Amino acid sequence: MASKVYDTIIVGAGPSGSTVSTHLARRGYRVLVLEKQRHPRYKVCGGGLSVRVDRLLGQEYHEVLDRRVSHLVMTCGGDRSFTIPFESPIAYMMMRDRFDAYLMNKARAHGCDVREDEPAVRIRCDDGVVQVRTTRGEYQARTIIGADGIPSLVMREIFPRRDLFYAVGLESESVLFQDDRWTTDSVLIDIGAIRNGYAWIFPKRRHLSCGVATFHRDRQNMRQSYSSFIQSQPVLSPVENHHTAGHLIPHFSSGIGFLVHGRALVVGDAAGLVDPFLGEGIYYAIRSGQLAADAVIGFLEDQKPLSSYADAIEKEIYQEFRAASRIAWIVYRLPRLVFKLSIRHPGWLEEVGRILQGRSSYQDLWGRLSDLRRWFGRVFR
Ligand SMILES: Cc1cc2nc3c(=O)[nH]c(=O)nc-3n(C[C@H](O)[C@H](O)[C@H](O)COP(=O)(O)OP(=O)(O)OC[C@H]3O[C@@H](n4cnc5c(N)ncnc54)[C@H](O)[C@@H]3O)c2cc1C
Repeated sequence: MASKVYDTIIVGAGPSGSTVSTHLARRGYRVLVLEKQRHPRYKVCGGGLSVRVDRLLGQEYHEVLDRRVSHLVMTCGGDRSFTIPFESPIAYMMMRDRFDAYLMNKARAHGCDVREDEPAVRIRCDDGVVQVRTTRGEYQARTIIGADGIPSLVMREIFPRRDLFYAVGLESESVLFQDDRWTTDSVLIDIGAIRNGYAWIFPKRRHLSCGVATFHRDRQNMRQSYSSFIQSQPVLSPVENHHTAGHLIPHFSSGIGFLVHGRALVVGDAAGLVDPFLGEGIYYAIRSGQLAADAVIGFLEDQKPLSSYADAIEKEIYQEFRAASRIAWIVYRLPRLVFKLSIRHPGWLEEVGRILQGRSSYQDLWGRLSDLRRWFGRVFR
């Protein structure tokens, strides 16, 4: 039987887990972090970070960034393109192995007991104590945070009847910069390459990463969409062997209401916190980690209910996701029409850039799209 009782056990050391760990350890709490892999490890991800992450992390982490992006190239089914330049960067590009290792090492430097190669396998919440069994031992804590991505063991153990829906992404990191056909401060987004989603090309330090993601619940032929996208982009087609890897992406509507139970919280992907328009999850993983840390501190110090975390997510994240969902519905339902309109009226895309910079919100954008909404209302009545 374990002798030490931690204040909290955090399962998973991705961006959400490392953020919540650092915040709690900084305040002097005894924190155990369990990570099933060993950092640095590969993670299927585009590696795009909105610039507004600086507000959450400061700028120290810039040492692990590859690129700064200030141009958005839009295509639709690969056949046409237009570019929107921004005065200042809208996104950063990085590789997840370096970024995630950086955040985890920060948690360790603040005094967290970080155990890699040690997956949690069983969780029990009884009599005011949480018990976690791993492949190596058993631990106890006053609270537990599920930051274990998807599929999440913590989510399964504390919400056994939850209905889960996932979207899918497929990406590869294979195209080297051999010539000047790609400017290093541009990202490309194609809204016609896949049903109910988009394809991307993101520049990294020495290569381009590219992929396709769909928010559609029905499975579709991802490999075929990926191949068509590659063939439609001259900068990608010379590369013959694309080593693709796929991963699940939480579907927002399935996350609602499953965040807190007893002494347990879930954050990041485990909580379903991925933006349903762009599929951005890292910002929300970090922010939910911070909000979870605040709730745990309130609980441990002042016996405040952990449900304050769910309230904060509703106010700060779910309201944004509802607006993002509505925008996604319009853009991905009629990508060709939206693309054509965007050539003449790129203002809404400039607004998306401001959202990524933290200067606007999906709720603001939705408010400004009132003409388009009225038009869609008439067409789909
Ligand atoms: C193809 C694709 C492209 C994407 N591109 C982007 C992008 O460009 N920008 C963006 O913002 N988001 C992107 N996302 C989403 C983003 O990857 C996630 O939202 C983000 O990783 C969530 O962070 P997290 O810390 O919640 O979970 P994760 O990063 O998944 O971390 C979970 C950690 O928990 C560990 N773990 C799992 N089970 C256990 C266990 N039982 N015990 C111990 N440890 C465990 C895992 O090893 C992992 O290290 C993309 C996703 C996909 C699939």
